[in-house]
Amino acid sequence: MDCKDLRKNMQLLLDDELEGAFRDQVEQHITGCPDCRQHYVELGLVVHKLSSAEWQKAPAGFTENVLEALEHAHLARRNWRVPLVRWTGLTAAAAFIFSLGVWWSMPNHFSVTANSSEGLIVKENQVIIPKGQEYKGNLIIHNGSVIVEGKVDGNIVAMNGQIYKQTGADISGHTKEINEALQMVGYYLEEFWTMVRDALK
Ligand SMILES: [Zn+2]
Repeated sequence: MDCKDLRKNMQLLLDDELEGAFRDQVEQHITGCPDCRQHYVELGLVVHKLSSAEWQKAPAGFTENVLEALEHAHLARRNWRVPLVRWTGLTAAAAFIFSLGVWWSMPNHFSVTANSSEGLIVKENQVIIPKGQEYKGNLIIHNGSVIVEGKVDGNIVAMNGQIYKQTGADISGHTKEINEALQMVGYYLEEFWTMVRDALK
């Protein structure tokens, strides 16, 4: 897969609409190609910007103009107001950088980095894992809270936020609340290198 093919499919990857071996190819390319990775992060930020507050108060024509400017874009489909990045296997490091990038560029915005939307409800600065639901994977949020009523098979990290475990909550991994900017950067670096080490094993 070359860079041109990759860029055609980048939006689909962000929208979580690629599957199987093809998805693996796209992920492998992004992981190995600094140019495309940079592009991926930037595209993610645009999706984030459009899908948050700006989306609702966009002036007439704004959406169309932006969509025209963004070739192949189909941003409104999922109607998420926060970026959602699948976060497994080879995408892990890229998604992680993406999450850090969102926070870095908009430190006071609510954002979520998650493996999928399955088992999650996202609304006004909150992520809820409802009773009877199971979310599989890691979850990072910035500037919001996570309310766990059901099951989480993974870790939860709240940057500048809170994690609430309700009765019956079942979390297999660790939970962490980090409220200092320096600690957040430290956490990202530490986790990032762990991921790189694991990937090289
Ligand atoms: Zn490339």
